[in-house]
Amino acid sequence: MDGSLPPRLDRLIRARAIHSMTGEVYRSVGLRGAGIAAVSPEPDGLDDLAGAGTVLTDAGDLTLLPAFADSHEHLLEASRNTLLVPVDRARSIGEFTAMIAAASRDAAHGEWILTSMAWHESNLAENRLPTGAELDAAADGHPVLARRGGHLAVANTAALAAAGIGPGSPDPAAGKIGRLPDGRPDGVLEGGAVWQVAAVAPAATRAELTEALRRGSAAYAALGVGTIREAMINSDELAAYQAAAARGKLSVRARPLIRVGNELTADEAIAFIDGLGAPGVGDDWLRPWGLKFVMDGGVEGGALEQPYASDPAHSGHLNWDPDVLTRVCVHAARRGWRIGTHAAGDRAVGTVLDVYEAVAGQTGPLPPWTLVIEHALLSDAAQRQRAVRGGFGLTVQHALLWNMGSEMLHTWGPERTSRVNPLDQWLAIGADLAVGTDMARPFNPMTSVWGMATRGTKAAGVQGHEHAIPVATALELYTMGTARLNHEAERLGSIIPGKLADLVAYRIDPMTADLDELAELTPVWTIVGGRVAHDPAGLLGPLEVST
Ligand SMILES: [Zn+2]
Repeated sequence: MDGSLPPRLDRLIRARAIHSMTGEVYRSVGLRGAGIAAVSPEPDGLDDLAGAGTVLTDAGDLTLLPAFADSHEHLLEASRNTLLVPVDRARSIGEFTAMIAAASRDAAHGEWILTSMAWHESNLAENRLPTGAELDAAADGHPVLARRGGHLAVANTAALAAAGIGPGSPDPAAGKIGRLPDGRPDGVLEGGAVWQVAAVAPAATRAELTEALRRGSAAYAALGVGTIREAMINSDELAAYQAAAARGKLSVRARPLIRVGNELTADEAIAFIDGLGAPGVGDDWLRPWGLKFVMDGGVEGGALEQPYASDPAHSGHLNWDPDVLTRVCVHAARRGWRIGTHAAGDRAVGTVLDVYEAVAGQTGPLPPWTLVIEHALLSDAAQRQRAVRGGFGLTVQHALLWNMGSEMLHTWGPERTSRVNPLDQWLAIGADLAVGTDMARPFNPMTSVWGMATRGTKAAGVQGHEHAIPVATALELYTMGTARLNHEAERLGSIIPGKLADLVAYRIDPMTADLDELAELTPVWTIVGGRVAHDPAGLLGPLEVST
């Protein structure tokens, strides 16, 4: 003994099981400051490190995991939704339009009525979108924009007029204006047409967004999430994130992607990227991940190799000329940027592979998780081999199949729906995967884990049971997988000394529970960076550790 004792722990937690994600199962974990100081396979194995100021949590009935790290979410959208008309709570077209009518009555003359994006027609009794005419009838002349997810919206006549969209308007290059039989717009907007109207709608102020991020990030922490890779924001929204982080308002870590819009020319996109400054500057709470490009649409608008089941004349759209995107990505990668490109359909996946192979051909080898494909909902075996050979990682979201399975069945047909995101096939050839949720709500990670292990969905039954993966694999990809994607596998993703203390506790052990117990399992508490982020029962004692 040299007489110097290790400094005491701030918090000592004893648990029934602590799944480290490295293959070890521990019974106690000690925290100091923001990090994990020690672990032990014995419940009392760290008692010597406890002192007078150590907060002891005896949780012999709880199982601990690393907090989830979502590889592709839209926390800012989810947060902003809380400022907007909450049509995600409507269960019928009548309830939906009644909310629009109530908001219109409260609004000043001519004020826009903007809805939460988190709704879906499958939650409405009629199982269809409201029409522009129904929004007209409810809105008393106010412009209404009801965005649904990232690629679709319904707008009323006043909103279309504000964006200059009328009977003679052509479809934008990468999108579609829905039409009535006589050619007038019916209010449904897809892809680029959504952006045309959204661009003229008012934006929330930075102060509103900052406060919304506080509430929104707390809601994610309450579901066991510790890190979110924020899949697409603009510079104003990044400023709101920076304000929230600077004031300690974020309950989860954020790794944002900055949108580079396909409306830009190659020269404009390159100038935009150069104007962003150096990539990756930030700290453990907020650090931009990289750049975001969007190659095709969602379920409607996704670029498919074969025509849609619902419309044999249609197979989706590509948003970028591959040569333009290659030139922009080569420039960005040479400046040290990481790139995530949205590709939902198999034709989009093939095109992004063409681009990434061309980029790597010009830049030479790039570190893993520099060129990333977002979603790849549909892919074939040859494409999967190309992705692995090229070292292109993939973010995958069972939550999209869970949430939009019935829409996929209608639009793409049952055969393609059953092979959406075949994680077993990707893993069998050694692909780099990171798990997340995207815009599906609710966003409970355990619902996704259940879905990956069962291929169950919200309203479309089981789709492609043969593509299920084990719970342990799903959890690893949802923690360490995303840590690798974020180039921080040394800092996060497992419960070992030296890593940041991001922990979540459950009443049952997800590794051994019946699968059906996982579908709605929520955490007892969540710790992010040593701070208590969620503890409704007050089991963790003082809210702040005594550092
Ligand atoms: Zn997304």
